[in-house]
Amino acid sequence: MRKYSSILFQAIFASALFVSTTSCAQVKTVYQTDKIQQEILKKVVENNRKYTEEGEVADYIPELGKANPNDIGIAIVDKDGRVISAGDSEKTFTIQSISKLIALMIAVEDNGEDEVFRNMGYFGTNKPFNHYANLETDGEPLNPMMNAGAILTTALIKGEDDVPYQRVLDRIRYITNNDKIEINEMVYLSEKETGDRNRGIFYILKNNGWIEGDEEKLNNYFRQCSIEVSAIDLAKIGYYFANHCTRYDGDTTYKDANISALIQSQMLIAGMYDYSGEYARTVGLPSKSGVGGGITVSVPEQMGIGVYSPSLDKHGNSKAGYEMILELSEMYDLNLFR
Ligand code: GLN
Repeated sequence: MRKYSSILFQAIFASALFVSTTSCAQVKTVYQTDKIQQEILKKVVENNRKYTEEGEVADYIPELGKANPNDIGIAIVDKDGRVISAGDSEKTFTIQSISKLIALMIAVEDNGEDEVFRNMGYFGTNKPFNHYANLETDGEPLNPMMNAGAILTTALIKGEDDVPYQRVLDRIRYITNNDKIEINEMVYLSEKETGDRNRGIFYILKNNGWIEGDEEKLNNYFRQCSIEVSAIDLAKIGYYFANHCTRYDGDTTYKDANISALIQSQMLIAGMYDYSGEYARTVGLPSKSGVGGGITVSVPEQMGIGVYSPSLDKHGNSKAGYEMILELSEMYDLNLFR
């Protein structure tokens, strides 16, 4: 850590010197800082590569089992919207549960927060992401970050057929400024074919009268989970929610500090499922993971972090991804509670 601080200090010192002595200092400063930061990210990747040997790639959705467990990548979008990355940061994988953030945002825009949470809680959890027993005992999903609440949330997005999914896709493309983002059809079909547990949850919700319509509403959930992104895209999503829904390049089309506060509070309380409490204790930042191996992190009013490594721990969170985030959080003193 000390080594990093001293490199960073040198960079800041050198930048200050340029600013005070040359007229084209701005360009030089940016370049210098980026270069240092990229060196740091490369080190973070190498320091944590060993963790890709731990954990397992998810295979309950058979198509996900094909991921390379040794992939590891990281990206950050810094305070000024600059993207810096290292490792397999451009490699694409399915967004999975991280899509729940985008679906929640659109459902709230369409219906208002009260309506979306009429039959759903703001609770944390000590149960895995696909737990649904409380639908029977408490009568409602715990929160919109676990599958039960997320399936309900997506079903509340307005539009016929696959329009709700298209709107999630369009918003992800907007946030990342990346029109190349597409669905992975193979993962979608694999998830749809094997998703009986989610299908069961869908029918309980429908039986309770909270979802109207047919399984196309569930398919939209499967589709949104199958959208392919990279660690760089995830860092941009993290930045967006960290900065009142302002895009990394400064675009404010959807700026809404109230929605970003809601999303970040859910990330903090339930974004890492039954590990969320310990994660808040160690990393101390709103974060959301997906079983594809991605984690997106929002450092409020500052930066976004995106990581990718498909070997998961027993909670379904990327093992190396978590370790990289922890190292960055400690290195840059990002923990909100320290
Ligand atoms: N599509 C996955 C599922 O429903 C999402 C779960 C996750 O990423 N934790 O099982």
